Parts: sequence; C-alpha cells; structure tokens
Amino acid sequence: MDVVDIIRAKRDGGTLSPDQIEWFIKSYTDGTVADEQASALLMAIVWRGMQPDELATWTAAMINSGERLDLSSITAPTADKHSTGGVGDKVSLILAPLVAACGVADPMLSGRGLGHTGGTLDKLESIPGYRVDLQPAEALQILRDVGCVICSAGPGLAPADRKLYALRDVTGTVESIPLIASSIMSKKIAEGTDALVLDVKIGSGAFLPDLDAARRLAETMVELGNAHGVKTSALLTNMDSPLGRTAGNALEVTESIEALDGRGPADLMEVTLALAREMLSLAGVDRDVRECIDDGRALAKWKELVAAQGGDPDAALPEAPDRRTLGAPRGGWITRLDARAVGMAAWRLGAGRARKEDPVSASAGVVCLKKLGDRVEEGEPVLELHADNPSRFDSAMEAVDGAYEVGPEAPEPAPMVIERVGP
Ligand code: URA
Repeated sequence: MDVVDIIRAKRDGGTLSPDQIEWFIKSYTDGTVADEQASALLMAIVWRGMQPDELATWTAAMINSGERLDLSSITAPTADKHSTGGVGDKVSLILAPLVAACGVADPMLSGRGLGHTGGTLDKLESIPGYRVDLQPAEALQILRDVGCVICSAGPGLAPADRKLYALRDVTGTVESIPLIASSIMSKKIAEGTDALVLDVKIGSGAFLPDLDAARRLAETMVELGNAHGVKTSALLTNMDSPLGRTAGNALEVTESIEALDGRGPADLMEVTLALAREMLSLAGVDRDVRECIDDGRALAKWKELVAAQGGDPDAALPEAPDRRTLGAPRGGWITRLDARAVGMAAWRLGAGRARKEDPVSASAGVVCLKKLGDRVEEGEPVLELHADNPSRFDSAMEAVDGAYEVGPEAPEPAPMVIERVGP
C-alpha cells in the first residue's frame, strides 16, 4: 500500500477502498504514515468529502484502533449524550445524575474545553477532590454502584482519533462533516453505550452556525450510530445565546446544582429535560424526569456521584476575588446576547485554554445577570465578569463590547429545541 497513491486518489475525487482506509488508519496510528502525509489526506477529505460507505469504514477503523468498553455487567439500560459544544453548556453535569435517578445508567466519557467552548472535565475539577482520570475498572464500578460516571476517556479508546484530532486542530481540517462525525462517533461507539443522544448546537456560539450544516452533521452521526447498533438520535438546539446564566467552570457547577435542586433557568431546563426524555425514550424507560428533580432524587444522585469520584459535594467552590460589571446603555429589553462573545470573554478571563496543556482557572467566567428577553433599566448591570487576576479584564471587556443589544420591544421567545433527527 502506498500512502501517496491514497492521497492522490482522494485529491482527484476518487473513492477509497476499505483496504486503503483500514491500512491508512492503522499506519497513521502506529506512526508508519507521517503527519504531513496524513495532513494532505485530511485536507483532500475536507475538499472532496466521503461517500457513506467510505465514512462507515473510516469510522469502524477508528473504533478498531483501540479498545471498546464492555458494559455487559451493567444491568440497567445505558444511554449517553454528546454535545457538539457551546457556551454555558453545563447540561452533562445535570443530565448524568438526572437520568441515573430515573434508572438509566450513563457512562459519560467527557472532554476538556478548547477555544471559546467549555469542557465538562474542567468544570468538574473545580470541585475540591473530584478525580476525572479513572482506570476503566474503577469507572465501571462507579457506573454500577451510582448509575453514572463522568470521567475522561482513557488513552486506549479510539487512539486514532486522539492523533487525528490533534493534527486537524493545527492544519485547518476540523471543519468537515465526515471528519467531525467520525471523530465524535468513534469515541462514543467505543464507549459501549446502548443508546446515544446527540445535542447538535446551532448559532453564534456553536461550531456550525447554520441549520443546514448542523442538520447534515446530525443525520450523518445518527446514521453511523444506528449502523453500529447504538440507538442514536439527535436534537438540534439553539446556541445563539449562552445556555443558562453562567459561563465558567465553578460558576457552571453552582448553576448545575441549582438546576438539580429545581431552580434552573428556563432555557437550560428546556434543553436538559428534552435531552433526558430522549435518552429515556431510546433506553425504553418510561419515567417522569421532572419528578426526579422535584422529589430531590436527581440532586441526591449528584452528591453520590461527586463523592464516588473523590469530591466533596458540600465543599465551597472557588470564587473569583475580582469582578467587573457592564451596564445597559439604555432602558428596554435585551434583544440579543451573543454566545460567542460571552464564551470568548470567559476564555480570556481564564476559564478556557489556548493549548491543550494550559491550566484553567476554576473561578473565572461570566455571569449573565440579564438574559435574552429580560427587561433592563438604563445603567442596570447586564454582565458580571469574574477573574483571579485583574489584568484579564481589559481583553475580556473588548470581547463583550457589542455582545448585547437593548431594544424598545421584547423579542419573540426563541425555541431552544429546533428539530429532532432520528429513526
Ligand atoms: N468534537 C470531536 O470530538 N471531534 C471533532 O471533530 C469535533 C468536535
């Protein structure tokens, strides 16, 4: 097999054979194919795309590059959720204990934030003692005992994606539907879950801002999941405005606990409950998710989860020593509150990282004191920026310059769940 032939074939719009794809994924993972050769093939795929059969083989080869978790010892039905990433997207923290309280086991292998979107593991690490790096046997034990686990994916899971994703990140080859779909689905299929709900975000704070591209990505991932025996569906959800009131690690943990206690903001609860109902439905469990919050079971499950992963569920979370507020330029209604701008500000305040190895601040972030559609008086605070270090404020203030608009009339309420894709 010659890698240059494979690159040329894709460059010229050809279809790769299963042998070529399997050889390429194996040889790139073991280091036989060099980064520059893999980059050339990835760029050719960005331009030429992949046929459905090629994508199915490519994804299967990525799954087979590592181990597949064996969840056969879990007696409850299993279901997980994956989001394409957004601002203030703390849904995973609420969802895992919520569905576990309803009798569905959630083996949630999560990632860290990169760029303006936050990562579940960074948020959880703001809880004193919480451990995200677990051995597979320990993760399984917690899943069995508690009904959910939220931890990092170990190095043995889809190692081809680990290498390919890092390469795509530095070669301008992230934005490709087949490459995104195979990257996400290889990890989720290897996780071993019976069912999977994808939260595909649309809007300024999302990876894919427009509806058509998001729908095509959702359809591609739903097809891949079902073809591999994972019952998969997707919800397309609104990410024009930050989800909930906070963006930042400890701030989002606090808001998630409030949500589990029945005090979550309407937009966050609408998305979380819709995803929870979809997970229960795919898992074949008929329970009232709202009731599991109202009767305190979801919050009790959260405390059990945190304690099982070494955290102290009652510990005070870190708080930023420095704060600045931004006020409304005039009285009226908030007609726009831009997710990307708020995400960028949280990132510049220290909540996110520029490179994978950078540390993040647990307490930095943004609190939206007013949300889309809220009434404000002139000068009333709209955003509150939190930082450990006052030198962070200038560039964060620049990021939120123009992030919100105040108009004379209340905007039409925007639906949070835009569309469902699935069988
Ligand atoms: N998340 C992933 O895991 N992979 C991608 O390609 C994009 C988002």
